[in-house]
Amino acid sequence: MENSVDDESHLLDISFPDFTWPVFEAGWVWLAGAGPGDPGLLSLHALNGLQQADTIVYDALVDERILKLASTDAEIIYAGKRGGKPSPKQTDISVKLVELAQKGRRVLRLKGGDPFVFGRGGEEALSLVNAGVPFRIIPGITAGVGGLAYAGIPSTHRGINQAVTFLTGHDQNGVAPDELDWDALAKGSPVIVMYMAMKHIALITQKLMKGGRAAQEPVAVISNATLNDQQVLETTLGTCADDIARSGFKPPAIVVVGKVVSLREQLNWLQPALYESPDHSHMSEETA
Ligand code: SAH
Repeated sequence: MENSVDDESHLLDISFPDFTWPVFEAGWVWLAGAGPGDPGLLSLHALNGLQQADTIVYDALVDERILKLASTDAEIIYAGKRGGKPSPKQTDISVKLVELAQKGRRVLRLKGGDPFVFGRGGEEALSLVNAGVPFRIIPGITAGVGGLAYAGIPSTHRGINQAVTFLTGHDQNGVAPDELDWDALAKGSPVIVMYMAMKHIALITQKLMKGGRAAQEPVAVISNATLNDQQVLETTLGTCADDIARSGFKPPAIVVVGKVVSLREQLNWLQPALYESPDHSHMSEETA
C-alpha cells in the first residue's frame, strides 16, 4: 500500500512549534540508526521514517520491538546473519537498496547504533550516490556512548579525560587491526572505547600494556547494553581477557578502558551490582 504524499495521516503525530516532519518521498532511502537496543533511544526522525516507509531493511542489532513501530503493511527485510548462515554481502545489500528505491519504494535502512559508526553506513550511502538515489541520514545513539551511559560510565569526565578514542577490535577480515598504532593509542588516549573487541581482547590488552598502560587500569565490558539483559563486567586491563572468558560474556559488547570506568561505582543508575565474586573482588556482574 503506497501512502500518497498529500495524505498526512502517516506523519508522526507529535507537533513542535515551527517544525515540520520530513515527508518520506517515493524512491528515497533513509539510512537510520536505531540506537543500541532500548527502543526508547530511537530518534524521532527514525520513528517518523518507520511510520512512513514501504520497505524496511534492518540488521541483526536492531531490536525487534522497534520494527513493531513500522506501518502494518510495510515490507520488512532482514539483512543480518541468521541461523549460522553468513550475512549477506555488503555489496548485495547496497544493490538491494538501490533496486528498491528505483522501484519507487520508500526504503528505511535501519542499523544498530549510529549508521556512520562502524556500521558501513558510509559505504551504503556511497552506493546510493553512485546510483543517483536520493537519501537522508538519520544519526543514532552509538553503543560506545549510549551503552556506556547505561552502565553509569561517562565517555568524558572533566579532570579525567579530554579525549576519547573509538576503535574496532577487528578489521573487515576479522583479524585484530594491525594498522592501528597501539603504542600511540596507549600514550595518547586516556579513554578507549572498543567495538567488536571480544574476539581479540587478549591481544589488544597486551598491546595496550606493552604501550605503557597499567595492568591495574579499570576496564568495563558491557554486553547487550541498554537491553533488559544488559550485563556489565568490571575488570582491569591485566585480568580482562581471563575474566571475559570466565564470565561467558557474549557479543555484542563494548569494552571501555580508562579511569572513567571508576565513576560507575557512583553513577550506576540502572541497577546496583548483584554480586561481588568472592575470588575477584573487582569483578561484578549484573543483570537488569
Ligand atoms: N553502528 C553500531 C556499531 C555496529 S558494530 C553503533 O553505532 O553502535 C557492532 C558492534 O557494536 C558490536 O560488536 C558491539 O561492539 C557494539 N554494539 C552494538 N550494539 C551493542 C549493544 N547493545 N551492546 C553492546 N555492544 C553493542
